Amino acid sequence: MLVDSHCHLEYKGLVDDQDGVLARAREAGVKAFLNISTKREEWDQVVGTARGNPDVFASVGVHPHNADQHLDLTREELLEATRDPKVIGIGETGLDYYYDHSDRAAQQRLFRIHINVARETGLPVIIHTRDAEDDTLAILSDEMGQGAFPALIHCFTASAEFGEQVLELGLSISLSGIVTFKNAKDLQEVARTVPQDRLLVETDSPFLAPVPHRGKSCEPGYVRDTASFIAELRSESLEELAAYTTRNFFDLFSKAAV
Ligand SMILES: [Zn+2]
Ligand SMILES: [Zn+2]
Repeated sequence: MLVDSHCHLEYKGLVDDQDGVLARAREAGVKAFLNISTKREEWDQVVGTARGNPDVFASVGVHPHNADQHLDLTREELLEATRDPKVIGIGETGLDYYYDHSDRAAQQRLFRIHINVARETGLPVIIHTRDAEDDTLAILSDEMGQGAFPALIHCFTASAEFGEQVLELGLSISLSGIVTFKNAKDLQEVARTVPQDRLLVETDSPFLAPVPHRGKSCEPGYVRDTASFIAELRSESLEELAAYTTRNFFDLFSKAAV
C-alpha cells in the first residue's frame, strides 16, 4: 500500500482521464492521493474531486509562481478554505527563485500566510522550494521560533545540508520521480539517509515521470516505480518502505481518514 502525497489531478494529462488514472493507481497499490492546489481559482475543483473519491484528499494554497496574482489573498480567506473536511493540507506554497515567475517579496509574504494558517489549524504546510534554500530556511526558522507547525518539503531536490537543517526543524521530506533520474546522484545520496519516520513519496504528476516512464505524462500509479527505486537505494524491501511512508503520511496529515 502506497500513498501519492502530491499530485495535480486537475492538470492536463490527468484531468481528461481522471477516473482511469485513479483506477490504474489503485491497481498499482496506491491507497490515498493528495490532490494539490496551486491557485485560488482551482480550490473548488481540487476539493470537488476529493469529495467525489473517498481515497482522494485536497490541499488549498497558492504556488509561489502565482504569488503576483494573489496579492490580495488574506490569512482569513485561506483559513476559511481549510474548513472543508476533505482539506488536509496547506499549499503548495514556498519560494521559487529558479523561475522567478513572481516577485520574491510577494512569494515570501504568501509563504508566511500559509505557515500562519498551518500553525492555527495544525494542518501541514506543503513546501515547494527551488534555488531559494537560504530564504526558505530563514523563514522556516523564524516562523518555528514563533510556534511550531507541521510541514514537509515536497519534491525535494535541495542540498544534503538543507535536508539536514529542515529535518532538524522537524520537517518531513517527500521524494518524487526525480530521484530515479540518472543525473540525480546527490539526491540519491540524500534519499539513502532520510530517517524512516520522515520520508514520504509522491509523483508531482503530471510532471516528472520516473524511470522507466520518462517522457510520458506522469500519473499517480507511477509512485510505485519511485518507491521501489528508493527502497533499492536504501536496501529495504518495497513492502517495508511502502508501510512506513504510508504511516508517515497519515501521521503527518492526521486529518485524513480513509
Ligand atoms: Zn512544487
Ligand atoms: Zn506540485
